[in-house]
Amino acid sequence: MALLEARKLNKNFGGLKVTADVDFALEPGELHCLIGPNGAGKSTFFRLILGEYTPTSGSIFYDGEDITALEPHDRIRRGISVKFQVPGIFSLLSVSQNLEIALQRHYHGESLQSEIDRALRFLNLSSEATQLAGNLSHGQKQWLEIGMAVSLKPKLLLLDEPTAGMSPEETRATGEMVQALKDGGMTVLVVEHDMAFVRQVATRVTVLHFGRIFMQGSIDEVIADERVAEIYLGQGHGPHHEASVPDQPPARKTQDIAHG
Ligand code: ADP
Ligand code: MG
Repeated sequence: MALLEARKLNKNFGGLKVTADVDFALEPGELHCLIGPNGAGKSTFFRLILGEYTPTSGSIFYDGEDITALEPHDRIRRGISVKFQVPGIFSLLSVSQNLEIALQRHYHGESLQSEIDRALRFLNLSSEATQLAGNLSHGQKQWLEIGMAVSLKPKLLLLDEPTAGMSPEETRATGEMVQALKDGGMTVLVVEHDMAFVRQVATRVTVLHFGRIFMQGSIDEVIADERVAEIYLGQGHGPHHEASVPDQPPARKTQDIAHG
């Protein structure tokens, strides 16, 4: 049985169909990438799963239960956790304190401290433990946020463009983190533009276009599909982005221009 299933999901904003007849299933333990041009409706789909938006029609099932009418906090309690594009860390607290806030739900006393240390190692942030979170580099902030989302011990983790603005090395390290979470049994759905990342982690890829599922397949099938290349034309990134990686300056990736 699927861990997450969207059935004929629709979301309209005024006359605009932002999510259109989406049928989507995520198997337990799957690491799945959601891609598509800017404005395709990827973040909206995440907000529907989380309950921040109410669908115009259709339903969402999670762990065998219809959660369409549940509030976000009830979905989070059932094990859905998300890292959005907008930072959600406490800038004026240290890196350790941020993790402590997230981890104290599940741990206390000595085990809390050992879990904080374990999270710091996992996130490559051990040397930054006492630094203010606001002083971290862009990539390190993303890792801290992933750490905070993971601290809730979710069954389903949603990551919205976790590697935006990261260097290729940071992107690779993020791929290893996500892979390790999957190996630990977590089900992960990632919105990503970086094709090197998608190739590194994804077992299955879904392409969203104008709110619809455009195609589903392996990364090789997606990259080989000319129609997929066409919907990315003029976007400056997309499935053929990795072919141009050697020409990019190494510090930051091109999609930052589009995604800020
Ligand atoms: P993506 O994450 O794939 O770039 P989004 O889901 O953010 O796309 O947005 C898809 C479309 O929905 C865009 O045209 C966007 O302007 C529109 N949209 C998203 N949220 C709202 C909203 N709250 N009100 C009106 N339009 C919205
Ligand atoms: Mg988005």
